[in-house]
Amino acid sequence: MKTPLFLKIFLGLIAIVVLMTGLVLTFSFVIIRHHYIDTLGEQLRNYCTVLSDQAVTIIRMNDLDSLDRTVKMLGKQTNTRITIIAPDGAVLADSEKDPQTMENHGMRSEIKDALQGQEGRAIRYSRTVKQEMLYVAVPARSNKTVIAVIRSSIYLSSINALISQLMTRIIYISLGLIVISVIVALLFARSISHPIQDLIHASRRVAHGDFDVNILFKRNDELKELAVSFNHMVEQLKTLIKEQSREKEALNTIIASIREGILVLDAKGKVLLCNNSFLEIIEQDSVQGKFYWELIRRPDLNELVDSVREGQRASFTTEIEIEQRTFICSAAYLSTAHQTVLTFHDITEIMEAAAMKKDLVLNVSHELRTPLTAIKGFIETMESADPGQYKRYIEIIKRHTDRLINIVEDLQTLSKLESRERLQIEEIDIHQIVRNVITMFKPAARHQKIKLLLKSKDPKILLKGDAFKLEQLFINLVDNALKYTEEGSITITTEQDDTRVLCKVIDTGIGIPLDQISRIFERFYVVDLSRSRKIGGTGLGLSIVKHIVQAHHGEITVESELDSGTTFTIKLPKTL
Ligand code: ADP
Repeated sequence: MKTPLFLKIFLGLIAIVVLMTGLVLTFSFVIIRHHYIDTLGEQLRNYCTVLSDQAVTIIRMNDLDSLDRTVKMLGKQTNTRITIIAPDGAVLADSEKDPQTMENHGMRSEIKDALQGQEGRAIRYSRTVKQEMLYVAVPARSNKTVIAVIRSSIYLSSINALISQLMTRIIYISLGLIVISVIVALLFARSISHPIQDLIHASRRVAHGDFDVNILFKRNDELKELAVSFNHMVEQLKTLIKEQSREKEALNTIIASIREGILVLDAKGKVLLCNNSFLEIIEQDSVQGKFYWELIRRPDLNELVDSVREGQRASFTTEIEIEQRTFICSAAYLSTAHQTVLTFHDITEIMEAAAMKKDLVLNVSHELRTPLTAIKGFIETMESADPGQYKRYIEIIKRHTDRLINIVEDLQTLSKLESRERLQIEEIDIHQIVRNVITMFKPAARHQKIKLLLKSKDPKILLKGDAFKLEQLFINLVDNALKYTEEGSITITTEQDDTRVLCKVIDTGIGIPLDQISRIFERFYVVDLSRSRKIGGTGLGLSIVKHIVQAHHGEITVESELDSGTTFTIKLPKTL
């Protein structure tokens, strides 16, 4: 399909050619006709001049018949019409008609001019011969007096025929020229529009992100220069975009690696950018094109965004809760880009730790207070008591002191774990650890007539972990199992898959009421206070267990049924 540019150039050129040809034809017709008439006029004047002397002589002799004959003969010879007119306008002789029958010629413009001594010329329609004619009249003088006017005339029809013959030839030549011009215009229009088309296609490809374009023109003009500049521009663009995407990639990597959630909003509050941490916070896969209030429905967040946008402050921070977690949300407004940047810093753990510390202090003081009050009470009783009864009191005081020691020891273990002491990672055989713990508790189990055994289809299971801490974990679990089992067995089972080790501590003890299972990992939480006291429980054992499991990036779950037993299941990754 021909492009508008091609058509414009082509039709423009054709219009110029046609217009110019038309003008040339018109003007050449006028000029040629003029030239012919001039030449004929000259010829007629020469005839008149030649006849003038002879006519003066004949007129002087007053031999008008001879004059008429001469004129008629000359007219035939020269193929022109010759008329001789007297100063009063009367026709004296005429080569074609009888002068007697002819009207007065005094008012003819060429005759008037000649009577005034000048040459007269006129083109006129002759009513006598009913044709357009060219008239030339010259004065015939005798002693400087105009005694007659000699006029010769010719039919213009012969000129017109001549001119139209000439014009036909010129028109043929012009048509030939027009055909050549059309071909030339076609080639010229193509030579301009083709490279421009190439440039347009190349620009479109660049606009669609394809920078592998290179325009080559086999010519040496401005279009080639344009192509060279275009290629250069594409190269520059390519480098620029590469650099930009590299920078963007670097920025994205930085943003993605930041643990804080990052959210960038446009002027209307639509999400422009966010990192994975933010997606994790709001528990969604994609947020592109959504408004921030569709993602987090919190009036305090709306207030925060509005206040930074309205320029009340350059940046602003508030505490908000999302999906049961607490975040410090900071907002900053980029006034040039009309964008709002929000960062979400998770402080749930810090808050929990603070709350836990507070609880711990309260719990510890409460837990220590009970045995200490008891010890003080019994000492006071002893003061006024019979020394024979001392032994009984000392026994009670000793039991409470042991409880104090237990609490302090458990607190120490817990504190060590919490102070994020780094794990001593080594390759360990979990069976080895379990066997050590079984050996440790064997006498107690035997004493309670409880079977304590390890069951596994694997001879050994290797994993990476802290041997000392994992041993502590099994000590606490087996210790609890023994404490809360009156008869039956305690079985430790182990299994493994490619990535994980699964251990179970199964007892046939008293079980845990369903509604309390979720609380047993809390510090100082005991199900049955009096029973726990009696057997020296502190309520800290399972907190320690949970800590150790979490430090190994594992999981712990409990299943229990009252009066039939409890199963603690621990899943540990093989590598950390
Ligand atoms: P304690 O020192 O009192 O045993 P723990 O933190 O070890 O404290 O356990 C918390 C509570 O969970 C215990 O008081 C007990 O009621 C319950 N519990 C723990 N292990 C078992 C078990 N194997 N069988 C029944 N109850 C248990």
